[in-house]
Amino acid sequence: MKASGPAFLFVRRTSSGAAPLPFAEALEQVRRDLARYAEKDTLFATHLEIADDPLLRETVEKYISDGLTEQKAIEAACAQICQTFTEIDDEYLRARVDDVRDVFNRISRAVAGETTANVDVPRGSILVAEELLPSDTVSLDFDHLAGIICHRGSTTSHVCILARSKGIPIAVGLPINAIRPGDIVEVEDPLVGTLPIAEKVRKAGRKLFANAGSVQDIRNAMKAGADGIGLFRTEFLFLSRPDMPSEEEQEAIYRNAIEACNGKPLTIRLLDAGGDKALPWHSPEQEDNPFLGVRGIRLLLANPEILRAQIRAILRAAADTKMTGETRIMIPMVTRIDEVRTVRDMVSSESDLLEDVNGSIPVEIGAMIETPAAVLNAVELAAACDFFSAGTNDLTQYVMAADRGNAAVSYLYDALSPAMKKALEMTVDAARSAGIPVGICGELASDPRATELLLGLGFDSLSISLS
Ligand code: PEP
Ligand code: MG
Repeated sequence: MKASGPAFLFVRRTSSGAAPLPFAEALEQVRRDLARYAEKDTLFATHLEIADDPLLRETVEKYISDGLTEQKAIEAACAQICQTFTEIDDEYLRARVDDVRDVFNRISRAVAGETTANVDVPRGSILVAEELLPSDTVSLDFDHLAGIICHRGSTTSHVCILARSKGIPIAVGLPINAIRPGDIVEVEDPLVGTLPIAEKVRKAGRKLFANAGSVQDIRNAMKAGADGIGLFRTEFLFLSRPDMPSEEEQEAIYRNAIEACNGKPLTIRLLDAGGDKALPWHSPEQEDNPFLGVRGIRLLLANPEILRAQIRAILRAAADTKMTGETRIMIPMVTRIDEVRTVRDMVSSESDLLEDVNGSIPVEIGAMIETPAAVLNAVELAAACDFFSAGTNDLTQYVMAADRGNAAVSYLYDALSPAMKKALEMTVDAARSAGIPVGICGELASDPRATELLLGLGFDSLSISLS
Protein backbone atom coordinates (compact mmCIF):
# COMPACT_ATOMS: atom_id res chain seq x y z
CA MET A 1 0.00 0.00 0.00
CA LYS A 2 1.18 3.49 -0.84
CA ALA A 3 0.43 6.83 0.78
CA SER A 4 1.65 10.31 0.02
CA GLY A 5 1.24 13.68 1.70
CA PRO A 6 3.10 16.65 3.15
CA ALA A 7 5.95 15.80 5.48
CA PHE A 8 5.55 16.68 9.16
CA LEU A 9 8.86 16.50 10.99
CA PHE A 10 8.45 14.96 14.42
CA VAL A 11 10.26 16.54 17.35
CA ARG A 12 9.80 15.01 20.77
CA ARG A 13 8.60 17.71 23.17
CA THR A 14 8.74 17.55 26.90
CA SER A 15 7.34 20.09 29.29
CA SER A 16 8.60 20.40 32.83
CA GLY A 17 5.77 21.12 35.18
CA ALA A 18 5.42 17.99 37.20
CA ALA A 19 7.33 17.62 40.46
CA PRO A 20 10.65 15.75 40.26
CA LEU A 21 10.32 12.34 41.93
CA PRO A 22 12.77 10.05 43.67
CA PHE A 23 13.53 6.88 41.67
CA ALA A 24 11.20 4.52 43.56
CA GLU A 25 8.22 6.88 43.23
CA ALA A 26 9.02 7.62 39.58
CA LEU A 27 9.06 3.89 38.87
CA GLU A 28 5.71 3.49 40.61
CA GLN A 29 4.17 6.34 38.59
CA VAL A 30 5.48 4.91 35.32
CA ARG A 31 4.05 1.52 36.28
CA ARG A 32 0.63 3.10 36.89
CA ASP A 33 0.73 4.99 33.54
CA LEU A 34 1.74 1.86 31.65
CA ALA A 35 -1.01 -0.19 33.27
CA ARG A 36 -3.47 2.45 32.05
CA TYR A 37 -2.06 2.42 28.49
CA ALA A 38 -1.98 -1.38 28.45
CA GLU A 39 -5.75 -1.42 28.91
CA LYS A 40 -6.13 0.38 25.56
CA ASP A 41 -3.18 -1.08 23.69
CA THR A 42 -1.92 -4.54 24.62
CA LEU A 43 1.51 -3.73 23.25
CA PHE A 44 2.13 -1.65 26.38
CA ALA A 45 1.80 -4.86 28.38
CA THR A 46 5.40 -5.63 27.35
CA HIS A 47 6.45 -2.25 28.77
CA LEU A 48 4.64 -2.96 31.97
CA GLU A 49 6.47 -6.29 32.24
CA ILE A 50 9.80 -4.52 31.74
CA ALA A 51 8.94 -1.95 34.43
CA ASP A 52 7.84 -4.76 36.76
CA ASP A 53 10.98 -6.81 36.24
CA PRO A 54 12.99 -6.84 39.51
CA LEU A 55 16.17 -6.72 37.40
CA LEU A 56 15.36 -3.14 36.38
CA ARG A 57 14.86 -1.93 39.94
CA GLU A 58 17.84 -3.89 41.30
CA THR A 59 20.24 -2.69 38.59
CA VAL A 60 19.33 0.98 39.12
CA GLU A 61 19.52 0.61 42.91
CA LYS A 62 22.93 -1.06 42.65
CA TYR A 63 24.29 1.90 40.66
CA ILE A 64 22.74 4.36 43.16
CA SER A 65 24.39 2.52 46.07
CA ASP A 66 27.68 2.66 44.11
CA GLY A 67 27.39 6.45 44.41
CA LEU A 68 25.85 7.52 41.06
CA THR A 69 23.11 10.17 40.94
CA GLU A 70 19.64 8.78 40.23
CA GLN A 71 19.74 10.01 36.58
CA LYS A 72 23.22 8.56 36.01
CA ALA A 73 22.18 5.29 37.66
CA ILE A 74 19.15 5.05 35.33
CA GLU A 75 21.39 5.70 32.29
CA ALA A 76 23.94 3.10 33.39
CA ALA A 77 21.29 0.46 34.14
CA CYS A 78 19.64 1.12 30.78
CA ALA A 79 22.95 0.72 28.92
CA GLN A 80 23.72 -2.51 30.78
CA ILE A 81 20.33 -4.15 30.16
CA CYS A 82 20.16 -2.99 26.51
CA GLN A 83 23.62 -4.46 25.90
CA THR A 84 22.42 -7.94 26.91
CA PHE A 85 19.41 -7.60 24.55
CA THR A 86 21.54 -6.51 21.56
CA GLU A 87 23.59 -9.70 21.88
CA ILE A 88 20.50 -11.93 21.45
CA ASP A 89 20.39 -13.72 18.10
CA ASP A 90 16.69 -13.11 17.47
CA GLU A 91 15.34 -10.14 15.55
CA TYR A 92 12.12 -9.95 17.55
CA LEU A 93 13.88 -9.93 20.92
CA ARG A 94 16.54 -7.52 19.65
CA ALA A 95 13.77 -5.12 18.67
CA ARG A 96 12.66 -5.16 22.30
CA VAL A 97 15.75 -3.02 23.09
CA ASP A 98 13.65 -0.05 21.99
CA ASP A 99 11.03 -1.01 24.52
CA VAL A 100 13.59 -1.26 27.32
CA ARG A 101 15.06 2.15 26.41
CA ASP A 102 11.62 3.63 26.27
CA VAL A 103 10.71 2.43 29.76
CA PHE A 104 13.99 3.82 31.13
CA ASN A 105 13.30 7.15 29.31
CA ARG A 106 9.93 7.35 31.00
CA ILE A 107 11.45 6.75 34.41
CA SER A 108 14.17 9.28 33.72
CA ARG A 109 11.62 11.92 32.70
CA ALA A 110 9.53 11.23 35.81
CA VAL A 111 12.64 11.62 37.98
CA ALA A 112 13.34 14.97 36.22
CA GLY A 113 9.73 16.11 36.61
CA GLU A 114 9.09 16.17 32.84
CA THR A 115 6.05 15.01 30.93
CA THR A 116 5.68 14.34 27.20
CA ALA A 117 3.64 17.01 25.48
CA ASN A 118 1.13 16.13 22.77
CA VAL A 119 2.20 16.81 19.19
CA ASP A 120 -0.42 18.26 16.87
CA VAL A 121 -0.04 16.77 13.42
CA PRO A 122 -2.19 18.15 10.59
CA ARG A 123 -4.53 15.57 9.07
CA GLY A 124 -3.17 13.67 6.04
CA SER A 125 0.50 14.23 6.97
CA ILE A 126 3.35 11.84 6.54
CA LEU A 127 5.12 11.85 9.89
CA VAL A 128 8.89 11.91 9.45
CA ALA A 129 10.94 11.00 12.52
CA GLU A 130 14.47 10.08 13.45
CA GLU A 131 12.99 7.44 15.72
CA LEU A 132 9.60 6.81 17.26
CA LEU A 133 9.50 5.21 20.67
CA PRO A 134 6.37 3.55 21.98
CA SER A 135 5.83 6.43 24.41
CA ASP A 136 5.81 8.85 21.46
CA THR A 137 2.83 7.02 20.01
CA VAL A 138 0.80 8.07 23.03
CA SER A 139 1.47 11.74 22.28
CA LEU A 140 0.41 11.43 18.61
CA ASP A 141 -3.02 11.22 17.09
CA PHE A 142 -2.60 8.29 14.68
CA ASP A 143 -5.91 9.05 13.01
CA HIS A 144 -4.28 12.16 11.54
CA LEU A 145 -1.44 10.27 9.90
CA ALA A 146 -1.41 9.16 6.27
CA GLY A 147 1.95 7.44 6.67
CA ILE A 148 5.16 7.30 8.69
CA ILE A 149 8.85 7.37 7.76
CA CYS A 150 11.42 6.58 10.45
CA HIS A 151 15.17 6.72 10.12
CA ARG A 152 15.81 4.30 12.98
CA GLY A 153 13.83 1.30 14.14
CA SER A 154 13.05 -2.24 13.05
CA THR A 155 10.13 -3.74 11.18
CA THR A 156 8.99 -5.50 14.34
CA SER A 157 9.11 -2.39 16.53
CA HIS A 158 6.09 -1.28 18.47
CA VAL A 159 5.42 1.69 16.21
CA CYS A 160 5.46 -0.54 13.09
CA ILE A 161 3.07 -3.01 14.66
CA LEU A 162 0.79 -0.23 15.85
CA ALA A 163 0.83 1.69 12.56
CA ARG A 164 0.11 -1.40 10.46
CA SER A 165 -2.65 -2.54 12.76
CA LYS A 166 -4.29 0.82 12.05
CA GLY A 167 -3.71 0.48 8.29
CA ILE A 168 -1.05 3.21 8.20
CA PRO A 169 1.87 2.46 5.87
CA ILE A 170 5.24 2.81 7.59
CA ALA A 171 8.80 2.63 6.27
CA VAL A 172 11.80 2.30 8.58
CA GLY A 173 15.52 2.64 7.94
CA LEU A 174 15.24 5.42 5.36
CA PRO A 175 17.43 8.54 5.26
CA ILE A 176 15.39 11.57 6.31
CA ASN A 177 17.96 14.39 6.30
CA ALA A 178 16.89 15.81 2.95
CA ILE A 179 13.19 15.96 3.85
CA ARG A 180 11.89 19.46 4.67
CA PRO A 181 8.55 20.24 6.36
CA GLY A 182 5.76 20.29 3.77
CA ASP A 183 7.70 18.33 1.11
CA ILE A 184 5.35 15.87 -0.59
CA VAL A 185 6.67 12.43 0.30
CA GLU A 186 5.51 8.91 -0.46
CA VAL A 187 5.58 5.80 1.71
CA GLU A 188 5.16 2.33 0.31
CA ASP A 189 4.48 -0.48 2.76
CA PRO A 190 3.52 -3.91 1.45
CA LEU A 191 2.87 -5.23 4.96
CA VAL A 192 -0.07 -2.96 5.80
CA GLY A 193 -3.17 -5.03 6.27
CA THR A 194 -1.32 -8.32 6.61
CA LEU A 195 -0.56 -8.03 10.29
CA PRO A 196 -3.94 -9.17 11.60
CA ILE A 197 -3.74 -12.14 9.22
CA ALA A 198 -0.23 -13.04 10.36
CA GLU A 199 -1.22 -12.89 14.02
CA LYS A 200 -4.26 -15.13 13.59
CA VAL A 201 -2.42 -17.65 11.40
CA ARG A 202 0.45 -17.93 13.88
CA LYS A 203 -1.91 -18.20 16.84
CA ALA A 204 -3.71 -21.08 15.11
CA GLY A 205 -0.34 -22.81 14.58
CA ARG A 206 -0.63 -22.71 10.77
CA LYS A 207 1.91 -21.50 8.20
CA LEU A 208 2.03 -18.03 6.77
CA PHE A 209 3.34 -18.25 3.22
CA ALA A 210 3.73 -15.48 0.67
CA ASN A 211 3.00 -15.23 -3.03
CA ALA A 212 5.90 -14.13 -5.20
CA GLY A 213 6.36 -13.12 -8.83
CA SER A 214 10.14 -12.71 -8.79
CA VAL A 215 13.21 -13.69 -6.77
CA GLN A 216 13.21 -10.19 -5.27
CA ASP A 217 9.65 -10.80 -4.02
CA ILE A 218 10.91 -13.96 -2.32
CA ARG A 219 13.71 -12.04 -0.61
CA ASN A 220 11.23 -9.40 0.55
CA ALA A 221 8.87 -12.08 1.87
CA MET A 222 11.67 -13.75 3.81
CA LYS A 223 12.69 -10.40 5.28
CA ALA A 224 9.09 -9.84 6.31
CA GLY A 225 9.16 -13.20 8.16
CA ALA A 226 7.14 -15.50 5.85
CA ASP A 227 7.33 -19.23 6.64
CA GLY A 228 7.81 -20.05 2.97
CA ILE A 229 6.51 -19.27 -0.52
CA GLY A 230 3.09 -20.74 -1.26
CA LEU A 231 3.01 -19.56 -4.88
CA PHE A 232 5.97 -18.59 -7.04
CA ARG A 233 4.41 -17.42 -10.29
CA THR A 234 6.98 -18.34 -12.95
CA GLU A 235 5.17 -16.50 -15.74
CA PHE A 236 7.43 -13.44 -15.47
CA LEU A 237 10.23 -15.57 -16.89
CA PHE A 238 8.24 -16.58 -19.94
CA LEU A 239 5.94 -13.69 -20.76
CA SER A 240 8.34 -10.76 -20.79
CA ARG A 241 10.68 -11.88 -23.57
CA PRO A 242 10.67 -12.62 -27.28
CA ASP A 243 11.93 -16.22 -26.98
CA MET A 244 11.52 -19.20 -24.70
CA PRO A 245 13.94 -19.08 -21.73
CA SER A 246 16.48 -21.90 -21.92
CA GLU A 247 16.68 -24.68 -19.35
CA GLU A 248 19.95 -23.13 -18.05
CA GLU A 249 18.41 -19.66 -17.65
CA GLN A 250 15.48 -21.13 -15.80
CA GLU A 251 17.72 -23.29 -13.63
CA ALA A 252 19.70 -20.21 -12.52
CA ILE A 253 16.52 -18.41 -11.49
CA TYR A 254 15.06 -21.38 -9.62
CA ARG A 255 18.38 -21.89 -7.83
CA ASN A 256 18.34 -18.24 -6.74
CA ALA A 257 14.72 -18.66 -5.65
CA ILE A 258 15.51 -21.77 -3.58
CA GLU A 259 18.49 -20.03 -2.00
CA ALA A 260 16.45 -16.91 -1.27
CA CYS A 261 14.02 -19.14 0.66
CA ASN A 262 16.73 -19.90 3.19
CA GLY A 263 15.64 -23.46 3.90
CA LYS A 264 11.94 -22.67 3.91
CA PRO A 265 9.47 -24.32 1.49
CA LEU A 266 9.24 -22.94 -2.04
CA THR A 267 6.20 -23.74 -4.18
CA ILE A 268 7.11 -23.26 -7.84
CA ARG A 269 4.05 -23.08 -10.04
CA LEU A 270 4.54 -24.53 -13.50
CA LEU A 271 4.06 -21.99 -16.27
CA ASP A 272 0.48 -20.75 -16.13
CA ALA A 273 0.09 -19.21 -19.59
CA GLY A 274 -2.88 -19.08 -21.92
CA GLY A 275 -6.20 -17.46 -21.07
CA ASP A 276 -5.31 -13.77 -20.95
CA LYS A 277 -1.59 -14.46 -20.60
CA ALA A 278 -0.23 -14.93 -24.11
CA LEU A 279 3.31 -16.17 -24.68
CA PRO A 280 4.97 -13.71 -27.09
CA TRP A 281 7.00 -16.52 -28.73
CA HIS A 282 4.19 -19.00 -29.15
CA SER A 283 1.19 -18.55 -31.46
CA PRO A 284 -1.69 -20.71 -30.37
CA GLU A 285 -4.87 -21.26 -32.32
CA GLN A 286 -7.34 -18.39 -32.02
CA GLU A 287 -9.79 -19.34 -29.26
CA ASP A 288 -13.36 -18.13 -28.75
CA ASN A 289 -13.16 -18.76 -24.99
CA PRO A 290 -9.50 -18.52 -23.97
CA PHE A 291 -10.32 -18.98 -20.27
CA LEU A 292 -11.93 -22.32 -21.15
CA GLY A 293 -9.20 -23.10 -23.62
CA VAL A 294 -5.57 -24.10 -23.70
CA ARG A 295 -4.27 -22.58 -20.48
CA GLY A 296 -2.16 -23.74 -17.53
CA ILE A 297 -1.33 -27.44 -17.56
CA ARG A 298 -3.27 -27.87 -20.83
CA LEU A 299 -0.84 -25.60 -22.66
CA LEU A 300 2.11 -27.46 -21.12
CA LEU A 301 0.78 -30.88 -22.08
CA ALA A 302 0.14 -29.62 -25.60
CA ASN A 303 3.76 -28.37 -25.70
CA PRO A 304 5.71 -31.02 -23.76
CA GLU A 305 9.08 -29.47 -24.65
CA ILE A 306 8.15 -26.40 -22.56
CA LEU A 307 7.03 -28.59 -19.64
CA ARG A 308 10.08 -30.83 -19.86
CA ALA A 309 12.53 -27.90 -19.88
CA GLN A 310 10.83 -26.33 -16.87
CA ILE A 311 10.76 -29.58 -14.92
CA ARG A 312 14.41 -30.30 -15.69
CA ALA A 313 15.41 -26.78 -14.65
CA ILE A 314 13.54 -27.12 -11.33
CA LEU A 315 15.03 -30.57 -10.69
CA ARG A 316 18.57 -29.39 -11.43
CA ALA A 317 18.17 -26.42 -9.11
CA ALA A 318 16.58 -28.55 -6.38
CA ALA A 319 19.32 -31.18 -6.71
CA ASP A 320 22.00 -28.53 -6.43
CA THR A 321 20.50 -27.09 -3.33
CA LYS A 322 19.52 -30.42 -1.75
CA MET A 323 20.49 -29.26 1.68
CA THR A 324 17.90 -26.50 1.62
CA GLY A 325 14.17 -26.66 2.27
CA GLU A 326 11.45 -28.46 0.45
CA THR A 327 10.86 -27.60 -3.22
CA ARG A 328 7.33 -28.10 -4.44
CA ILE A 329 6.08 -28.23 -8.01
CA MET A 330 2.53 -26.92 -8.34
CA ILE A 331 0.32 -27.62 -11.34
CA PRO A 332 -2.09 -24.87 -12.50
CA MET A 333 -5.59 -25.43 -13.93
CA VAL A 334 -5.84 -29.12 -13.07
CA THR A 335 -9.12 -30.77 -14.07
CA ARG A 336 -8.19 -34.45 -14.32
CA ILE A 337 -5.94 -36.90 -12.48
CA ASP A 338 -4.06 -37.88 -15.61
CA GLU A 339 -2.65 -34.33 -15.76
CA VAL A 340 -1.03 -34.85 -12.37
CA ARG A 341 0.12 -38.35 -13.30
CA THR A 342 1.74 -37.13 -16.51
CA VAL A 343 3.65 -34.44 -14.63
CA ARG A 344 4.66 -36.96 -11.95
CA ASP A 345 5.89 -39.44 -14.59
CA MET A 346 7.87 -36.74 -16.32
CA VAL A 347 9.38 -35.60 -13.01
CA SER A 348 10.49 -39.12 -12.16
CA SER A 349 11.85 -39.94 -15.63
CA GLU A 350 13.73 -36.64 -15.90
CA SER A 351 15.03 -37.10 -12.38
CA ASP A 352 16.45 -40.50 -13.42
CA LEU A 353 18.00 -38.97 -16.54
CA LEU A 354 19.92 -36.22 -14.78
CA GLU A 355 23.33 -37.94 -14.81
CA ASP A 356 25.11 -35.54 -12.52
CA VAL A 357 22.66 -36.09 -9.68
CA ASN A 358 23.23 -38.72 -6.98
CA GLY A 359 20.08 -40.23 -5.55
CA SER A 360 16.57 -38.94 -5.81
CA ILE A 361 15.69 -35.27 -6.03
CA PRO A 362 13.40 -34.21 -3.22
CA VAL A 363 10.44 -32.46 -4.83
CA GLU A 364 6.77 -32.62 -3.93
CA ILE A 365 4.05 -32.44 -6.57
CA GLY A 366 0.73 -30.78 -5.93
CA ALA A 367 -2.33 -29.43 -7.70
CA MET A 368 -3.89 -26.02 -7.67
CA ILE A 369 -7.55 -26.44 -6.95
CA GLU A 370 -9.00 -23.79 -9.20
CA THR A 371 -11.57 -25.56 -11.35
CA PRO A 372 -14.91 -27.06 -10.28
CA ALA A 373 -13.78 -30.42 -11.72
CA ALA A 374 -10.79 -30.44 -9.37
CA VAL A 375 -13.08 -29.76 -6.40
CA LEU A 376 -15.64 -32.38 -7.37
CA ASN A 377 -12.88 -34.90 -7.96
CA ALA A 378 -10.74 -33.81 -5.02
CA VAL A 379 -10.83 -37.15 -3.19
CA GLU A 380 -9.36 -39.04 -6.16
CA LEU A 381 -7.02 -36.17 -7.01
CA ALA A 382 -5.64 -36.06 -3.46
CA ALA A 383 -4.46 -39.64 -3.81
CA ALA A 384 -2.19 -38.54 -6.67
CA CYS A 385 -0.89 -35.35 -5.01
CA ASP A 386 1.53 -34.43 -2.23
CA PHE A 387 -0.37 -31.21 -1.51
CA PHE A 388 -3.28 -29.03 -2.60
CA SER A 389 -3.48 -25.27 -2.93
CA ALA A 390 -6.78 -23.51 -3.52
CA GLY A 391 -6.52 -20.91 -6.27
CA THR A 392 -9.62 -18.96 -5.38
CA ASN A 393 -9.10 -16.28 -8.04
CA ASP A 394 -9.88 -18.72 -10.81
CA LEU A 395 -12.00 -21.07 -8.74
CA THR A 396 -14.43 -18.21 -8.05
CA GLN A 397 -14.77 -17.33 -11.71
CA TYR A 398 -15.37 -20.93 -12.74
CA VAL A 399 -17.68 -21.86 -9.84
CA MET A 400 -19.73 -18.68 -10.23
CA ALA A 401 -19.44 -18.60 -14.05
CA ALA A 402 -18.39 -14.95 -13.70
CA ASP A 403 -15.32 -13.63 -15.55
CA ARG A 404 -12.83 -12.38 -12.95
CA GLY A 405 -12.13 -9.26 -15.02
CA ASN A 406 -15.68 -8.31 -15.98
CA ALA A 407 -17.04 -5.50 -13.79
CA ALA A 408 -20.62 -6.16 -14.97
CA VAL A 409 -20.65 -9.54 -13.19
CA SER A 410 -18.42 -8.57 -10.27
CA TYR A 411 -21.43 -8.85 -7.95
CA LEU A 412 -21.36 -12.61 -8.66
CA TYR A 413 -17.61 -12.89 -8.37
CA ASP A 414 -17.62 -13.54 -4.63
CA ALA A 415 -14.96 -15.83 -3.19
CA LEU A 416 -17.02 -16.11 0.00
CA SER A 417 -20.33 -17.01 -1.63
CA PRO A 418 -22.06 -20.11 -0.20
CA ALA A 419 -21.10 -22.12 -3.30
CA MET A 420 -17.45 -21.15 -2.84
CA LYS A 421 -17.52 -21.98 0.87
CA LYS A 422 -18.78 -25.45 -0.02
CA ALA A 423 -16.09 -25.82 -2.67
CA LEU A 424 -13.38 -24.87 -0.17
CA GLU A 425 -14.80 -27.20 2.45
CA MET A 426 -14.77 -30.11 -0.02
CA THR A 427 -11.17 -29.29 -0.97
CA VAL A 428 -9.96 -29.24 2.63
CA ASP A 429 -11.92 -32.39 3.57
CA ALA A 430 -10.48 -34.35 0.65
CA ALA A 431 -6.95 -33.28 1.56
CA ARG A 432 -7.54 -34.16 5.24
CA SER A 433 -8.81 -37.66 4.38
CA ALA A 434 -5.79 -38.26 2.17
CA GLY A 435 -3.44 -36.84 4.83
CA ILE A 436 -1.90 -34.20 2.54
CA PRO A 437 -1.43 -30.51 3.43
CA VAL A 438 -3.81 -28.00 1.91
CA GLY A 439 -3.13 -24.31 1.50
CA ILE A 440 -4.76 -21.37 -0.18
CA CYS A 441 -2.92 -18.98 -2.48
CA GLY A 442 -5.74 -17.00 -4.12
CA GLU A 443 -6.30 -13.36 -3.08
CA LEU A 444 -8.89 -14.52 -0.55
CA ALA A 445 -5.96 -15.54 1.68
CA SER A 446 -4.90 -11.86 1.79
CA ASP A 447 -8.32 -10.66 2.90
CA PRO A 448 -8.29 -10.15 6.69
CA ARG A 449 -12.09 -10.61 6.77
CA ALA A 450 -11.69 -14.21 5.56
CA THR A 451 -8.84 -15.32 7.85
CA GLU A 452 -10.96 -16.84 10.61
CA LEU A 453 -13.18 -18.66 8.15
CA LEU A 454 -10.18 -20.12 6.29
CA LEU A 455 -8.52 -21.23 9.51
CA GLY A 456 -11.82 -22.67 10.69
CA LEU A 457 -12.20 -24.63 7.46
CA GLY A 458 -8.82 -26.21 8.25
CA PHE A 459 -6.35 -24.72 5.76
CA ASP A 460 -2.80 -25.55 6.87
CA SER A 461 -1.28 -22.48 5.25
CA LEU A 462 -2.37 -19.12 3.92
CA SER A 463 -0.22 -17.67 1.16
CA ILE A 464 -0.66 -13.93 1.03
CA SER A 465 0.30 -11.17 -1.38
CA LEU A 466 2.68 -8.63 0.06
CA SER A 467 2.11 -5.91 -2.50
C1 PEP B 1 -5.70 -18.25 -8.49
O1 PEP B 1 -6.28 -18.50 -9.54
O2 PEP B 1 -6.25 -18.17 -7.38
C2 PEP B 1 -4.24 -18.02 -8.49
C3 PEP B 1 -3.57 -17.86 -7.37
O3 PEP B 1 -3.63 -17.94 -9.68
P1 PEP B 1 -3.64 -16.69 -10.68
O4 PEP B 1 -4.26 -15.53 -9.95
O5 PEP B 1 -2.21 -16.47 -11.04
O6 PEP B 1 -4.47 -17.20 -11.79
MG1 MG C 1 -5.21 -19.19 -11.31
